Amino acid sequence: MIYTYALFKSNIFETATIARHVVFDNISEAILVLDQENKIIDMNNIAEKIFNIKSKLAIGQDVCTEFKEYQEIIKYIYEEKETSFNCEIKIKNKLYYFKGKLTLINNNRGKGKVIVLSDNTEQVLMIKKLEYYGITDVLTGVYNRKYFYKIAKEKIEACSDKKHMSLLMMDIDKFKIINDTYGHPTGDIVLKKVMNICKELLGKKYYIGRYGGEEFLILLDNANSEKALEIGETIRRRIENLEILHDNKCIKITSSFGIFTSVRERDLENMIKFADKALYEAKSLGRNRVSIKMGNS
Ligand code: GH3
Ligand code: MG
Ligand code: MG
Repeated sequence: MIYTYALFKSNIFETATIARHVVFDNISEAILVLDQENKIIDMNNIAEKIFNIKSKLAIGQDVCTEFKEYQEIIKYIYEEKETSFNCEIKIKNKLYYFKGKLTLINNNRGKGKVIVLSDNTEQVLMIKKLEYYGITDVLTGVYNRKYFYKIAKEKIEACSDKKHMSLLMMDIDKFKIINDTYGHPTGDIVLKKVMNICKELLGKKYYIGRYGGEEFLILLDNANSEKALEIGETIRRRIENLEILHDNKCIKITSSFGIFTSVRERDLENMIKFADKALYEAKSLGRNRVSIKMGNS
């Protein structure tokens, strides 16, 4: 009794309540407390900021109405079970990534839910960046050779026997002269510009990969010889018409293309070998042209 009296006398309970609020409002996680009917009982400062909702107005309201914009979170509340989840929330037009944890409360003082959200944006963006650099050729922004092979193999294997599959190999003509005349950095700019043309013309429909140096591969999934020739010719003409300014001089380039088209061949290495033969033919016929080889059908 003396001990309890001493506790009250020293205001320890009051201090604990104040301390609880200081912690509640200053931790970096957003916290939302709900009762059994999913009415908001409490939310901390960071939750107010993230959801742009004033706790004074929200407390006592149904969470599903107050948070209707955040269906990604609401769906977990409806599930009525403890769970961990990842969600994306747009704050002032910027996308943030959160890790969420929903805990059920069920004790003699009542039932409800606590939702804790921690900002995981930095880590998610870092992972995305690493993933991007793992699959991309940094100079040109197209797929690197390793990833192109992986994705092309998957596409080729998934392609049915009746469909045409074309592989295009392109090579910039006399590119060594560009480097020797204007310098390597200008050569890099040329490579970037050429790949920008390809990306712009092909969009996300076809896969482009850097085979090595100034040679690139394009997988023309489901494209027959006419379509593949048309695409090759379009890229060739755009590159021929490209004008790159360097020290007030206009650099012009051309490129050669080898295409292999088949309905049967489903081995990437073989397809590359035949596209390379077609490219060799385009080079020996005078460059700035598209050659095609057809597989047995
Ligand atoms: P061809 O018409 O027969 O293809 O002649 P080419 O000069 O284009 O071929 P070659 O293989 O002799 O030279 C290719 C050049 O591409 C040599 C190399 O320095 C250059 N190159 C390869 N990768 C890069 C790069 O990332 N940046 C720059 N600037 N040059 C590169
Ligand atoms: Mg070349
Ligand atoms: Mg080459």
